[in-house]
Amino acid sequence: MLRTTQSRISLSSLHLRHSTPRAHCYRRAYATSYTSLSSRYETYYGGSIKTFYNSTLTGLSPAENEFREAVWEFSARVVKPKSEVIEREGGDSETHEYKTLIEVHKEMAEMGLHGVTVPTEDLTSSLGLGLSYTHHLLAMEAISYSSASLALSYGAHSNLCVNQLSRWGSDDQRAQWIPGLLDGTYIGALAMSETGAGSDVLGSMMTVTKKVDDGYVLNGNKFWITNGPKADVFVVYARDVVEPGAKQTYTTFLVPRTTPGFSTGKPLDKFGMRGSPTCELIFEDVFLPSTSVLGDPVSLQGKGAKILMSGLDLERLVLSGGPLGIMQAAYDTAVDYVHQREQFGVRVGTIGSMQAKLAEMYTKVNTARTFVYAVARAVDYHNAEAQKQGLGPKDKGYTYPPFQRRDCAAAIMYATDKAIEVAMECMQCLGGNGYINDYPAARYLADARLYAVGAGTQEVRRWLIGREVNSDFE
Ligand SMILES: Cc1cc2nc3c(=O)[nH]c(=O)nc-3n(C[C@H](O)[C@H](O)[C@H](O)COP(=O)(O)OP(=O)(O)OC[C@H]3O[C@@H](n4cnc5c(N)ncnc54)[C@H](O)[C@@H]3O)c2cc1C
Repeated sequence: MLRTTQSRISLSSLHLRHSTPRAHCYRRAYATSYTSLSSRYETYYGGSIKTFYNSTLTGLSPAENEFREAVWEFSARVVKPKSEVIEREGGDSETHEYKTLIEVHKEMAEMGLHGVTVPTEDLTSSLGLGLSYTHHLLAMEAISYSSASLALSYGAHSNLCVNQLSRWGSDDQRAQWIPGLLDGTYIGALAMSETGAGSDVLGSMMTVTKKVDDGYVLNGNKFWITNGPKADVFVVYARDVVEPGAKQTYTTFLVPRTTPGFSTGKPLDKFGMRGSPTCELIFEDVFLPSTSVLGDPVSLQGKGAKILMSGLDLERLVLSGGPLGIMQAAYDTAVDYVHQREQFGVRVGTIGSMQAKLAEMYTKVNTARTFVYAVARAVDYHNAEAQKQGLGPKDKGYTYPPFQRRDCAAAIMYATDKAIEVAMECMQCLGGNGYINDYPAARYLADARLYAVGAGTQEVRRWLIGREVNSDFE
């Protein structure tokens, strides 16, 4: 066990326990940066991952880079060898078993990855790493490289559920749930979407909560909920019953899976991300005590819209690691392949039009990554500034600077577009092999496509960014 004797895990112990010794990693970084172009790749865990990730362009600090290397090493050692079985188990329409996914969740807990952004000083969470959104993004990218499905499940757990609970939950709620969510005992999920409420998630929401004497009664359905089939606790948004003519309000609840009246539908059979569990949630006269309102039942009752909106920017930012990781995997697969495959007596990668394809893929991967990392740094900077002023999400008047909303949306929008393009180009580079499932190219495309709708659609992201740009001229 990683953390039996220490309340908080340091990055160097994380690194030393789970990966190659630090000196070796520094040597590798040196070789990556300064040797000839032909050997400019990084290997992890004895070559389980060989990546043409260009670490010279990232602008990461030494500490961030150390963390990055540790999570890539974990991804190579633990995730990569299990990625096929995670896909198979989740995609099996008879069993939809997620045994291996759950096992790897527990190994991620041992690494501390479920609490990357949970404060170390939190009274309930000596397991939190207390790191930045940049770190969380790096973890999401590294896991997505080896298994996009696992990473989606990880993002829903560690960002959508854990981060919202950590930011908004009451002392009692955090004490009850955070330790188990961080140590791998529990899996978390977040439920806002419904069959009739996707892009217009608040306006069309039909899951309704009625105040009764000692609590609330919840009725309705949520759809497409990541981790739904396996989660132990759900952050759930619901429409309040209000007096005719009164302003519509919403409330956020924490709903344990064991609550009477709660059930889930059959796991959904998906185009990509087949290893990631997704299903419908059903609430039939679910009684919830007042203490189930996320945060303070008095001040945060009816404040669900604010809580929901406050999480969306961070969700977009952290989940941007998904397309980044998939795109890097697609690029690496393509580069490797075109330098092995020979036609007309030459490696196909050296043919002019294929060389141009490599140039485009290279540029897309690196522009997307450097932009996303820059947005993460800006978010972290403003978060730190707010904290210095003693401000947090629960404070009246606390908002992220508005430019971050457009930039978080732009980060995931751009990374998603480029990931889909690079996955398509990877398929083309592999010729016939790109089209058969013995090779991973088609899966990259199917997995990347999720990010065009999950965590909001590309069209809504464009609409949001455009609206913010236009508002500068009002
Ligand atoms: C695998 C998977 C996992 C998911 N996980 C979760 C989860 O964990 N929790 C959760 O709450 N939700 C989850 N979702 C739901 C996801 O957030 C929604 O699918 C998404 O918000 C889009 O909603 P919709 O599917 O209803 O599309 P719709 O809103 O019906 O959109 C249909 C089309 O119309 C376009 N459109 C709609 N409104 C506009 C507009 N104003 N301007 C321009 N175009 C517009 C859309 O871009 C889209 O192309 C998941 C979805 C998937 C597929």
